[in-house]
Amino acid sequence: MILDYNECQKIMDSFNNRIITEKPPLAYTNNEKLPIRHFTLGNGKKHIIVTAGQHSNEIITVTFVLNLMNYLIKNNISFESLTIHFIPILNPEGYLINTSAIRNKLGRNTTENEITKFSYEFYKKFKSDTQNKDSKTKEHQLMFKDINHTSINSKYNILRNNVEEILSNHPKGSIIDWASNGNGIDLNSNTKKRIVKPNEYNWQLVYNNIRLDIPSPIGHPGNNQSNNFKNELEITSLKKLLEELKGNIFGLLNYHSIGGIIYQRPESNNEFITTYNYLLSKYYQEYTIKNKGTYDIIKDKSGKIVSVNDHLRINYPGNILIELSPMMGNPIGVFGDKNNYNTTIQSNINSFIYTMTNIDRILSLTNNILQKQNNIDNIYQYIDKIYEQENHIKRSH
Ligand SMILES: [Zn+2]
Repeated sequence: MILDYNECQKIMDSFNNRIITEKPPLAYTNNEKLPIRHFTLGNGKKHIIVTAGQHSNEIITVTFVLNLMNYLIKNNISFESLTIHFIPILNPEGYLINTSAIRNKLGRNTTENEITKFSYEFYKKFKSDTQNKDSKTKEHQLMFKDINHTSINSKYNILRNNVEEILSNHPKGSIIDWASNGNGIDLNSNTKKRIVKPNEYNWQLVYNNIRLDIPSPIGHPGNNQSNNFKNELEITSLKKLLEELKGNIFGLLNYHSIGGIIYQRPESNNEFITTYNYLLSKYYQEYTIKNKGTYDIIKDKSGKIVSVNDHLRINYPGNILIELSPMMGNPIGVFGDKNNYNTTIQSNINSFIYTMTNIDRILSLTNNILQKQNNIDNIYQYIDKIYEQENHIKRSH
């Protein structure tokens, strides 16, 4: 279930086959020149991009995409009008850091059951940390208090030294919260819009005691208030791919890990994007499972742009951010309940396939709606109504 960096590479090595093609990497990372691997499925004119592991502690996103690719290969599934791009690990150095820490703690000979038990323990501690926001120590970090940069193989010497230096400013055990890239920069916060004040701590109090204003395991946007701000390489290389495909992108599924939520906001003034994204979210929602219902779709009219994903969302149609697991506790809490894990993976595979099968339908519905409605509130209501009608027809068949 929990795959470390090398195990993921081996699985990806098996992917160049009759239906999936490996393309040249998007780029090689700054420190250790690790490839950001890129695969495609199908040759259709409409392009869909799937990314996972932007936040490296959200390891279930990588597990999910690798499982999804395996499932498509095994069942020989591709989609006629689509080319699907898979980027299973957008942040390889971060993934290496986080999973090396886990591997070091768990050892190599731990059984599945022991891993599940340990992960559930972590989940409980994480949950109590969330509830005891003011506590000076974080229980989930204490479980990893003896784990540090030395868990990273010494052949990754540059990265190891970087991590040692960065961690020296943060609590013991906070390597387990590592969501950033190898430079200690959070790839979704890596925008000029994210304002961080000196000495500021993480807004997510579960990660309290980790500073935001310096390179850190999570939340640091980079030196973004200076004039020479640049996006990190992982983001510029993704943007380069998106620019190449501009005009032909109809989906950008950006996987994150906690909540069972689909984010499709903020709406841009672009009615096509607004309509298309909401419809796409409705289709994706269909097979998701959270408690007795489905994932929530966030549709507030916030208009706020505070993350890299928000930037992408106003520029390319079909960008939805999916928070996979209804259960909390990155990176391993979500593996603490086999039922939650299996349901999360399988239901999202079903949702993905259902959505991809319906891309042409979603597009033609969008164009129909835009001929009749132009106010955003009306569009939302109208979509809810016609989607209900469609499903009613579908279910009665
Ligand atoms: Zn995330």
